[in-house]
Amino acid sequence: MQTRTEAEILAAKASAGDRYSQAETNYRQQRHLSDDELRAWMTEQASLEKAEIRQAVDEKRVYVVAGKDAHRVHLYDCSSLREQIDRDHAWSFWQIGSAESFRLQLAHGDGGPRMPELVDRAAIEALRSYVTCQICAPSVSHTSKSRGVRTTKLTSFSARHIGRELSALDGTSLGLLERIITTIDRYSSSVAVQTSTVSFDETEHPAVIVGPAVSGTVSSGSAPSTE
Ligand SMILES: [Zn+2]
Repeated sequence: MQTRTEAEILAAKASAGDRYSQAETNYRQQRHLSDDELRAWMTEQASLEKAEIRQAVDEKRVYVVAGKDAHRVHLYDCSSLREQIDRDHAWSFWQIGSAESFRLQLAHGDGGPRMPELVDRAAIEALRSYVTCQICAPSVSHTSKSRGVRTTKLTSFSARHIGRELSALDGTSLGLLERIITTIDRYSSSVAVQTSTVSFDETEHPAVIVGPAVSGTVSSGSAPSTE
């Protein structure tokens, strides 16, 4: 190993430091804008964010997951989210505040009000656990989904799942599981299932929600099991 002088190491350190591009610096500091222009920029951000929310709603992304320890599921128009969803309101605090402290916060990467993330129903059902908000009461598969209810991959199905009710991740019922068909050839294996109402394979639904075992539903010799 070649030993470098202290000066060479310092020079290498200087050239290794990431520099923000001018565009990033402009965004992060907004120093090129006067205070009034900066406030106009905030109004523009609010409009862009409103358009983003409208587009999410058009795309059926209408749920917001809030809460740090428990996932609480809200509809985007829940009254408890008003301060976040109403972007004019969200930005109003910044509009009346000091423009320079806003520039400083932007420079640290946390300027402006947090934008809520809107997700679709499949994203909600894919959560391992959640509770629904009692104010807006979104209609998802559970009001309280605990770790006991989870998604199961089709490839993990076995005889003990026969007779249980399957639902797609968006909550649509897929009927009672009647048959599991595994096809194995030289190059691959695939799984398809037949239920009381439909047939599908793992390309259509790689994973589903399996309902609890119903006592009295005994099929193909598999005993109802409780988990
Ligand atoms: Zn709510």
